[in-house]
This record gives sequence, structure tokens and C-alpha cells, in this order.
Amino acid sequence: MPDCVKCGAYTKYKKGLCSSCYAKKKGGGNVYVVESTRQNDTKQLYTGITRADPSVRFKQHEKSIGGNKTWVGRGTAVKFIGSRWSDNPETAEKTVKKYTAEQKLSFAANSKKTKKKNQF
Ligand SMILES: [Zn+2]
Repeated sequence: MPDCVKCGAYTKYKKGLCSSCYAKKKGGGNVYVVESTRQNDTKQLYTGITRADPSVRFKQHEKSIGGNKTWVGRGTAVKFIGSRWSDNPETAEKTVKKYTAEQKLSFAANSKKTKKKNQF
């Protein structure tokens, strides 16, 4: 069983880092929520991570509309709901993805209350 090269904890990657050392190495980022309008006109929430400015990531999503490559791109419109800062966005994203639509909206809505980094 391979061990983390940094702390010795279990990792599935040979000569690699465990998930917590990996997250620390990569640093924090933003977990964001967008609303996607699908081909059948229903609206669905999409949760993602970005280490760039969320507005930059959102513009990429907007540009992807009409393309066929991503889930958001296969929709007909996308609307930015909000984003929150996390020291470990991969874990935070997993948590948020399990949320109900209502919980996702309130998670994202909280982002509007503070201007700067909003710890999740
Ligand atoms: Zn480690």
C-alpha cells in the first residue's frame, strides 16, 4: 500500500501525496453555483470549483453555451448564482453537490453578503 511522500498517510498514488497534503499543496479556491437552463427549458444547478476569479470561470461557461463539450455548454443559458471561498474546494464541492437545490441556493446566496473571501 503506497504512503504519502509527505506525511506517510495512506494514498492510492505511488510516490504521491495523500488527499489532505494534495489539497494543501494546491491551495484554496472558490466553489461556485450556476443555474443552467436545459434544452427542455428546465433549470438546474451546477456546482464547480475554480482557482481563478469566479467571474472569469463564469465567462468560460457563458462562452460554452451552444457547444456540445460540457454539461453547461449543452444547455441554452447559464446564470451565475454565487461562490464561496474554501481552503479545500475539492472537499467543499463534494459537500455542496450533495445539497438539495434549496441548500445550494442558500450556500451561494451567502456569498453576496461579504465582498471579500467568504470562508466555507
Ligand atoms: Zn500526506
